[in-house]
Parts: sequence; structure tokens; C-alpha cells
Amino acid sequence: MTDRALVAVMLGRFVRARWGFRFRTRARFEAWQRRRIRSFLRRIPAAPFYRSDGSRMRLDQLPIVDKSTLLERFDELNTRGVRLVDALDVALEAERSRDFAPLVDGDLTVGLSSGTSGRRGAFLVSPRERMLWAGTILARVLDHRALGQLLRPWESPLRIAFFLRAGGNLYESVASSRIRFAFHDLTQPFDGHVAALDGAVARGVGPDVLVAPASVLDALARRALDGSLGIRPGLVVSVAEVLEPETAGRVKAAWGVSTRQVYQATEGLLGVSCADGALHLNEESVFVEREWLDAEHTHFAPVVTDFDRRTQIIARYRLDDVLRVDPAAPERCACGRVTAVLAAIDGRADAVLRLPGTDGLTVVEVFPDAVRRAMALNSDGYADWRIRQTGLDVRVSLADAAPDAPARVASVLRDLLSTYGCMASVVEEPWATPDPAAKVRRIVREDVS
Ligand SMILES: [Zn+2]
Repeated sequence: MTDRALVAVMLGRFVRARWGFRFRTRARFEAWQRRRIRSFLRRIPAAPFYRSDGSRMRLDQLPIVDKSTLLERFDELNTRGVRLVDALDVALEAERSRDFAPLVDGDLTVGLSSGTSGRRGAFLVSPRERMLWAGTILARVLDHRALGQLLRPWESPLRIAFFLRAGGNLYESVASSRIRFAFHDLTQPFDGHVAALDGAVARGVGPDVLVAPASVLDALARRALDGSLGIRPGLVVSVAEVLEPETAGRVKAAWGVSTRQVYQATEGLLGVSCADGALHLNEESVFVEREWLDAEHTHFAPVVTDFDRRTQIIARYRLDDVLRVDPAAPERCACGRVTAVLAAIDGRADAVLRLPGTDGLTVVEVFPDAVRRAMALNSDGYADWRIRQTGLDVRVSLADAAPDAPARVASVLRDLLSTYGCMASVVEEPWATPDPAAKVRRIVREDVS
């Protein structure tokens, strides 16, 4: 594809994602989505993994795959014959050198999924797919004011400060004379970034848009509130981590704006919040099947089919995430969209505590939203928290805890666990300063088997 054709792909998607994709009813939307899935199914035999299935197949006849399938059959799951070793070589070299330009097979970028549990997954993205992504994200994230600034050539370019742990190559694909990115590599010391932001403000080129993982937004908002950081972003976007209500509140207090949320995994762009604050699944590109985790059908693991992708086929891929929906949510959001709205992204599957029931027979699952609500009750008593389950122990550590906070927190957690009817002991652990380059995961179940 030529550069001009790629820009056309991006603009086309931008226009559709911003003003198009409007459906009068959910049923009409689903009919449109079924057509997109049918044409996706006609294309996927280009990947050897799906070749033998022929062209008659239905989506629900395809096997459900996960990260281990992806790694074991990587070479057959992409349509360009890229081998896993070559993709990993490029990606690991990029992470080591912090130069995220390298490509595999001429023009493909490689993303690595987080390696918090086991091996890391590798994902190939073509230039066309990057442009579709860029068009969608710009259309869905930029508010009216930011978009106006972007489109009016006599105004200064839109300045976006971007805090990332890994490659910015995906994001650089949207850079232009109207959009300037300042990348802040989170493996570098945080104070250096704060100084760089203040330096930009002093030169009159402070960021209009701030994009960062939730924990970094929280740290920046704290600095803004205590007067040690002078940026005034008009748009704040949370990526890559669970956005806690406390962080959204702090951002609002610091800069007077609501935090937009992007649910982006290496596997794809899975959700974006709308102007009305609802976090919509990105069902215009991804078909999401729900594997329910509870009898009430409020928590599920998503099984995703990304029908925009043609290079690495993501079909019925089970993600290691726990998503929550409100069964009473209306079919149509206030913003006019009929795509599904998430009540929250609760975190990874191993953020669900699994403890034996007091009856000694059952295993009780305690979902992260319940734990977060319990922790919020005493949040005036500490600056941050982590919970780690090992065996029958629920280990709590608190940062900068007030003298009585550990006892208050332990008592609330014991109440929670007894309400759920499970056996566990709550253990206090000293706070360990987290690695700023690591993704923040407040709740983790460590399997000891
Ligand atoms: Zn909405």
C-alpha cells in the first residue's frame, strides 16, 4: 500500500468511527456485524491454521484459541508466513534498545503482550491495520475541542504527551504536522518526565492531551494538585491498566476533566469510553463472545474475533481478562451507540481470588470489584495498596499507612470474606515500592500448586 492509500484508509475509518456506524437498533447492528464476520471468514483460510476448514465454516465452528495456541501455532495463524522466532527477535531487540522502529517481513510491526503470567504473546500488525486503529482511536477519543484544534491549520498543532512502557511505533503512525507526540518512556526515572513536562509548559508547548496508564495519571494528578506540576491538559486518556474511581476523581480535581478510558490490549483495541462516560466495547471491529464466570451473568471472560485484521488472525481468542456488565443497562447509550457498555474492566483472570468455602466443599470466587469496594472504605488511611493471594492467605500491603489503617483494612477484608463464606486469613505485609516500569496490578492470585 502506498502512503497515500494508507492515509485514505485512516481518514475513511476516522470519518466512519466519528460520524458513521450509527444503527437504529441493536438488531440492525448485529445484522451488519454478521455480514462483516462472514467476509472475515471467507478471508481467513489465507492462514494455514484455518485452511482445512474450507469456506463453509461458521464462526462458532472454529476452535477457541488462547495465548498458548497462539504461540504454538503462530506460524500458521498469520497470513504472511512469519515465524514466531523472527517476530520475537524483532520485538525483544526493540524492547532492549528502546528503538521501536524495527519491522518483520518488510512492513509488519510486532507487539508483545504483557508477560506477567508465563510466556509473552506476539502480535503482528500491518500498516493498513495500524491505520484502521489510528483512525478509530482518534475518532473515538478526541473531544470536540481537540478535534477542532487538529482540523484548524492556523491553530497550533495538537500536542499529545504519551507515557508508555513499551513501543510507541503504533502511536507514531498517527503523527503529522497537526499532531505532535512527546513520548515518555516509563522505564526512565519519573522525575525526569515531570521536569520535561514543566519545561514544555515554560516554552508554551505544554500537552493538550495526556495519555498514560492509570497509575501514572494518578501520580501526575497528585503532583498537579500539590502544585509541583503545571500542565493543563484539556483531555486525559487512561490506557493499559484498570482505572480506579479514585484516580478518575483525582484527575477531575487536578484538571477539571473526566478521564477517557481506552481498553487496549496487544490483541486489539477492545473498548473506548464515549463522551457520556460509558465504556463501549469496540464491537465495530471486534465480535465479543461472553464466557460467563458467575450465575448472575455479570462477569465474563471475553472471547474476541477481530474482523478488521488480515495479517494475524484473531478468531475466537480467549482473553485473560474479567469484564463486568450491568444486566439492566439500556440497549442504547445516551451517546446514541448500541454497542455493549461495560460496567468495568475488573482486571486479569488472576485478579479473582479463589478460596475454599467454609463448608469445605466448594471454591468461592471473590471478584476484584468487591475487593476494590472494600479497600475504598478506608482509602483515607493509605496512599496505595496491593493484595496478593497465596494459598489460604490474603496478603495486604499498604503504602504510607496511618497507624490504625492496617487493622481497619484487615477487619473490612475479614468481613468481606466471611460475607462470601470463604476460609482465609488476612495477613499484613510490608509495602514494597513498585517498579515504575511494571504494569500496576493491585490484586493478584498467585497459584501455589
Ligand atoms: Zn455511549
